[in-house]
Amino acid sequence: FLALNNIQKSFGPVQVVQNFNMNIEKGEFISFLGPSGCGKTTVLRMIAGFETPTGGTLYINGKDQRPLKPNQRNIGMVFQAYALFPNMTVYDNVAFGMKVAGAPKAETDSRVKEMLGLIKLDHLADRYPYQMSGGQQQRVALARALAVKPQVLLLDEPLSALDAKIRVSLREEIRAIQRQLGITTVFVTHDQEEALSISDRIVVMNAGKADQIGTPFEIYNTPATRFVASFVGTLN
Ligand code: ATP
Repeated sequence: FLALNNIQKSFGPVQVVQNFNMNIEKGEFISFLGPSGCGKTTVLRMIAGFETPTGGTLYINGKDQRPLKPNQRNIGMVFQAYALFPNMTVYDNVAFGMKVAGAPKAETDSRVKEMLGLIKLDHLADRYPYQMSGGQQQRVALARALAVKPQVLLLDEPLSALDAKIRVSLREEIRAIQRQLGITTVFVTHDQEEALSISDRIVVMNAGKADQIGTPFEIYNTPATRFVASFVGTLN
């Protein structure tokens, strides 16, 4: 469904992504796991269209994405934190994409209500981001990303700014919503426990390459390299 073939990215002389290959099935929940600077975010940004690959091909649902701008790719994205429009209410944040697309008011209204129901924040539609907790803000960011019915959901460390307890409950909630909608999802994290607990498959990245792609069970029990073993914590 989402096919990355020999994707490469260089910034000047520095190659930060090298021959990245991955086929993601429709409805899969995939984590990109690796230390800071390994290129996870860069791959995500290439899928979204914010960065142009210096090599390789990128297809979603059989369609070459390379000629398409970010707003033509039908992708939803949630960032680390603080990415809501601060001067807009929850309702307007979630409605934003549909308004830009020129959806009729009634349709926008019912979709926003549906999304707020999904994240269980119907009662906070009139609040502003600063009046809500970090966890609530990230749920609104998720609702905003999903409101336009994207074909792929990209999550870039959406939990890393939250405290530990909220992080665990919110990741379960994200996974439940993802399953319910059956939306193909790529989740970037440097937290091995997080990746192991919610993914269908994990890509362990090391210095711009995928060291191993496998189920959490495979990654944990049969790490392909010393790097994978040490990063997932099975080798000390
Ligand atoms: P982090 O979790 O810290 O964001 P990451 O694995 O997501 O790490 P990337 O953000 O993809 O890593 O960065 C990979 C490498 O590419 C890093 O060495 C980074 O400094 C470099 N890099 C990223 N964006 C640019 C840019 N616009 N110009 C130059 N170098 C960049």
